[in-house]
Amino acid sequence: MTQKDYPALEKEQLNKLVFEATQFGLSNGLIMYPPAPYLNYQPNLAPITLFPTPFPRKQFEKSLSVAKIYNKLYSLVVTEFNWLTETIQDLANHDKDFTGKLWECYKQASANGIVQDVSLALIRSDYMYDEILDQIKQVEFNTVSVSFGGLSAKVGKVHNYLNQIGLYGKDYYSTDELPISESDKKLAAGLYSGVEYYNNKYLNGKNESIVLMVVQPNERNAFDQRAIEYNLLSEYGIVSKRIDLPDVLSSIEINKDNHKLFFNGFEVSVVYYRSAYGPSEFQLAETWDCRTTLECTLAIKCPSLLTQLSGSKKIQQLLTTKENLSRFLSAEEIHEIGDTFCKIYPFDNTIDGKLAKELAFSKPCEYVLKPQREGGGNNIYKNDIPDFLKSISEDEWQAYILMELIRPKTHNNLILRNGEILNDGIVSELGIFGSYLFNEKSGELLDNQVLGHLLRSKTSSSNEGGVAAGYGCVDNLYLY
Ligand code: ADP
Ligand code: MG
Ligand code: MG
Repeated sequence: MTQKDYPALEKEQLNKLVFEATQFGLSNGLIMYPPAPYLNYQPNLAPITLFPTPFPRKQFEKSLSVAKIYNKLYSLVVTEFNWLTETIQDLANHDKDFTGKLWECYKQASANGIVQDVSLALIRSDYMYDEILDQIKQVEFNTVSVSFGGLSAKVGKVHNYLNQIGLYGKDYYSTDELPISESDKKLAAGLYSGVEYYNNKYLNGKNESIVLMVVQPNERNAFDQRAIEYNLLSEYGIVSKRIDLPDVLSSIEINKDNHKLFFNGFEVSVVYYRSAYGPSEFQLAETWDCRTTLECTLAIKCPSLLTQLSGSKKIQQLLTTKENLSRFLSAEEIHEIGDTFCKIYPFDNTIDGKLAKELAFSKPCEYVLKPQREGGGNNIYKNDIPDFLKSISEDEWQAYILMELIRPKTHNNLILRNGEILNDGIVSELGIFGSYLFNEKSGELLDNQVLGHLLRSKTSSSNEGGVAAGYGCVDNLYLY
C-alpha cells in the first residue's frame, strides 16, 4: 500500500488546527502537569503530534496477534520459579542498587509469608517498525507501572476529531485508517479482572473492595492514571484510592489473622503500582518496607515482586534464545513471536557473552547498551558504549545487555509542545497494552487480555522517547 504524507496546510489553517486540537485535548483531559515545582502550576495539553503517523497495517496487526502469546510467556516465566529466581539472584549480584533491592524485598516477603498466589500484570509490549527488515521488533516488555494508556485514547480522538471537522482536508483519512485505542477503558477492565477474582473468592461476589493505586509523589502524569480510575468507577462501580509510595506504611491496616489489607477502612482487592520502578523512588530505606509489607497481604498485587522482576531486560535477553523459549511455548508459538525479537547479547562467559564484549567495541554504532532500569533516560547509545564500559568495572558489565539497534522509519510530522510547533523528522514506538491474571504457583492463566495501543514519537535525532521525561510526544497511528 502506498502511504500519503500529512496534508500540507497554509499558516492560517495550521493555526486553526492548533487551536482546535488544544481545545479538544483540554476538554477531554489530554493533559499533563509541567515539570517542577509541579502542582503549583496548571496542567497543560500533553505534547502531541498534530497529525497521525503512518504505520504499516500488517505490522500493527502482527503486534496484536502476538500479544496474548507474550502475556502467556511472561506469566509462565514467573511460574518457572527456579529458573527465574536463579537468574534474578545472579543479576542481583551485579545490579545491587535495584534488582538486588527488589530481590531482597522478595526474600524478606517470602520469609514473612506470601499468602496470595494470584497475581495481576498490566503490561505494555513496545515495538519499533524496522524499515530495512520490514518487520516490527520488540524494544522491551514492561511489567510494572505502564503508562499512557489513558492519554493514548485521547490523542486518537483528537486526530479523529480534526479529521471529522475537515481540518486535514475533506475526508483526508478514512475511519478505518485511524484506529482509536480504547486503552483508557480496557486497562480498567484489566484491573477489574483482579478485583472480580478477589471479590468472588473472599467477599462472596460482593463488589465491595477498592483498588489501592500506589503512586509517586508529585506525579506529572496523574491525568493518564485518572482516566483509568474514573473508568473503573463508571464501568464497574469500583473505587480507587491513591497513596504516595513513601506514605504506604502510615496509611494502611492489615488484619493479622487473614492478612486482608485495608485503607481508610476500605478493603483492598488490588494494589496497583504506578510507582516503585526505579531506585530514586526509594530515597528513604523505609520505603522498601512498603513494597515488602504490601507483598505479604491478601490483596492481589499488580504487579507482584516476581512479576515485576520477570520484566527485567536480562529476562528479555534470555528469552530470545530458542533453548529458553522452548521451556515455555510450543514450536508454533515460538514461530509466531520469534521474528519480533532483536538480537540481544549478555555480558557473561557464554559464546554470546564473548561476542558482546567484542561487538561493543568493534561496532558500537549498531547497538544500545541497557541497564536493568525503567522509565527512560538510562541507556547508553552507539559510540558512547566503549567509554562507558571502560569507566565501570568488568564485574558490573553483567548488569547490562547489548541490543541491536532497530532502524525505524523517519516520518515528517508536527509536534505541539507547550504551545510551540516543532517541525521535525520523527520516529515512533508502538506499545500494545495487555493484562494477565494468573496463579504464580500453579501457572494457571485465569485471564489474558489485549488492551489497546499507544504510539509515542520522538524527533529522529534523539535516542530516547520518554514523553514525561521531555523527549517525546503522544501520537496515534495512520494505518496504510
Ligand atoms: P525503558 O525501560 O527505560 O523505557 P527501553 O528499552 O524502552 O527502556 O529504552 C528506552 C528507549 O530507547 C526506547 O523507548 C527507544 O526509543 C530506545 N531504544 C531502546 N532499545 C532500542 C533499540 N533496540 N533500537 C532502537 N531504539 C531503542
Ligand atoms: Mg521499560
Ligand atoms: Mg521503554
